[in-house]
Amino acid sequence: MKSIDLIVPCYNEEAGLEHFVAETNKVIAAIPDYRFRYILVNDGSKDKTYLIMKRLAAQFDNIKYISFSRNFGKEAAMYAGLQHADADYVVVMDADLQHPPAVFPQMIEAMNEGYDCCATKRDEREGESFFRGAFSKLFFRLSNRLTDVKNPYGAMDYRMMTRQMVSAILELSEVQRFSKGIFSWVGFQTKWISFKTVDRELGTSTWKFSSLFKYAIDGITCFSVAPLRFTAVMGAIIFFLSLIYIIATLIQTLFFGIQTPGYVTTLCAVLFLGGLTEMSIGILGEYIGKIYMETKERPIYITKFSNFEDEDNEEK
Ligand code: UDP
Ligand code: MG
Repeated sequence: MKSIDLIVPCYNEEAGLEHFVAETNKVIAAIPDYRFRYILVNDGSKDKTYLIMKRLAAQFDNIKYISFSRNFGKEAAMYAGLQHADADYVVVMDADLQHPPAVFPQMIEAMNEGYDCCATKRDEREGESFFRGAFSKLFFRLSNRLTDVKNPYGAMDYRMMTRQMVSAILELSEVQRFSKGIFSWVGFQTKWISFKTVDRELGTSTWKFSSLFKYAIDGITCFSVAPLRFTAVMGAIIFFLSLIYIIATLIQTLFFGIQTPGYVTTLCAVLFLGGLTEMSIGILGEYIGKIYMETKERPIYITKFSNFEDEDNEEK
């Protein structure tokens, strides 16, 4: 019998975790040919998520949990789950039922067709603001253009993967993790399926627009140095343009004498170059910051409690 591990990062999910397990169990019950196991990762929740996890683990013997010492972020939680997974197929999904377990049969079918991964993308983005929608569209276009990462618009983390693909993902042990990029970067055959998105039933989404913006910047800078090249190209263009301007001014001065200097021209040049320099330093800083964080080689997460047998950290 083949096995499937469900990796579920949970951050402040006390309101919906039990409901999630109940709903998912209903789907699992209809797929008796596969042995399912949950790997719930408590990402330093500030509410009772951990207690609920422990209760669920006591209730169902196919529930494993890992609880972090603090909030390390969803990416870290996914990594921890992937490290602990040992099933034939591994699923990563959210705890808020926005990633409906109902598509499991479709995913399993894709895997049986020979795909290494069955990933989901959203078709309709109901309830999303125009601004947010336009921003994410722009991001998908940019990142597909600038990086090796090719994702369709609306690609989500929710997916089923083979053990082999999971091993490849674990090889990428960088601290600055951008899963959508990593999933795509490792290659393998991915089948994309889509479903209508649903609103979060219980609890609240922890994403703000500022984090979305940071997510977009990371998505590009983690997988490409194109922004650095852009600053170099801009620098070169401005250098040649100013060379032409200098020569022209020189000739003009030599033949027609000194002209009254233009206040507006000077101001524009100063502001334009100042802005451009600041931006270039910012882009550079983005990369240096990433190098700095990577060179520390800190662990991606720290476990406080878990009920995995091989780890000696079960709460007494
Ligand atoms: N999550 C997490 N750590 C965090 C933030 C979120 O593990 O720091 C989990 C959260 O519990 C959920 C999933 O990541 O299972 C997606 O979070 P959310 O629903 O808030 O995001 P959205 O659906 O808006 O992408
Ligand atoms: Mg959600």
